[in-house]
Amino acid sequence: MTLPLPSKRLTAIPGDEGDGWGVYYRALELQAAGERVTPLTIGEHDIRTDPVILDAMDRAAREGATGYVVMTGLPELRRAVAERCEARTGVKTTAENVLIVPGGQAGLFATHMGACQPGDRAAYIDPYYTTYPGTIRSAGAVPVPVITRAENGFLPEAQAVDAAAEGAASLLINTPNNPTGAVYGTGLLREIGAVVRDRGLWLISDEVYDSQVWEGAHVSPRAIPGLEEQVLVVGSMSKSHAMTGSRLGWIIGPVEMIRALGDLSTVTTYGVPGYIQKAGVYGLGLGPAFEGKIAAPFRRRRDLAQARLGQRRGLRLLPANAAMYVMADIRATGLSGEEFAWRLLEDHRVAVMPGESFGQAAAGHIRIALTVEDAALEPALALIGDLADRLADAARMPA
Ligand code: PMP
Repeated sequence: MTLPLPSKRLTAIPGDEGDGWGVYYRALELQAAGERVTPLTIGEHDIRTDPVILDAMDRAAREGATGYVVMTGLPELRRAVAERCEARTGVKTTAENVLIVPGGQAGLFATHMGACQPGDRAAYIDPYYTTYPGTIRSAGAVPVPVITRAENGFLPEAQAVDAAAEGAASLLINTPNNPTGAVYGTGLLREIGAVVRDRGLWLISDEVYDSQVWEGAHVSPRAIPGLEEQVLVVGSMSKSHAMTGSRLGWIIGPVEMIRALGDLSTVTTYGVPGYIQKAGVYGLGLGPAFEGKIAAPFRRRRDLAQARLGQRRGLRLLPANAAMYVMADIRATGLSGEEFAWRLLEDHRVAVMPGESFGQAAAGHIRIALTVEDAALEPALALIGDLADRLADAARMPA
């Protein structure tokens, strides 16, 4: 008798992109052994969920919101999400257009399940948030990267988008972007919209960083005229309200698709805890000023990073227009992003993500998460800049 094995559907999820999480795990190991490491790896706020939201959560739980809830989400939360979307896009959006899901990641999975038949091609932009190719595979589709160039600010070019979209069922974009901080303008979104319309595919728009834009403004493709029937917006309160652990997100799209995605919720998550959703309603009720307060430290630290790393011989900082990270091109050091990140951790106890973890377009880069208090960030930035300068100088020396 042979023992049953995990299905190929599961074993295929990790893929062969190379995950680049070695540095992150090593940093955790060092910390567990009592060493001081400055963790600039993952997108987690150093300032946790605000006590006023926690109070709302506690109140809701004590008032009885601890039982099963309606699968599609509490009507008042669906309404609040719809209102936020309508206020930002100007496009009529009702509760019927919104499905509440346990976090943006669950939304990414569900939208690909909803958009793709098994074996369909599903395009996404490279550099990308680490889970994208695995999420696409888990939905039975085939990931097709659209490679962007650092020289073009990591913005996708219409021709490359069109080539990838040919025969694809979906295109996944992420603006404001993790890891690059790129923000797509209306012109680019119109170009992408034209491709999506001509080729008849779904546009899945990951907008979890929509409250963290420092230059320009966030534009959702849902706001592009004539596109709303083909756009599925994925949003979340993880970043905007520092609620990463509460797992509260949403999908916004055409009513028929939202209903069908509700059937998927019934057989997977069975909804999101009521007390979390009620805390979400409270949090959204605090309005844009509160979201601005949560975003403010990242803007301040982005400025700090530009001041400390803007004029270095060994690295070139990319214009970080949004989100909680900055990307640095460290190719002048002669090292790969992975080699640089290991060196930085082993020699200086600063942990950053190698660009290679986000796809081939980000090779030779590192991503620095601005997720520690300013007093800890400053010396870490100095160590990064000094290491890059030293390596670049050595690389230039004649052998
Ligand atoms: N999309 C992007 C681009 C992200 O960076 C993240 C989290 N780091 C997510 C989606 C998922 O976020 P969550 O599931 O916490 O909403």
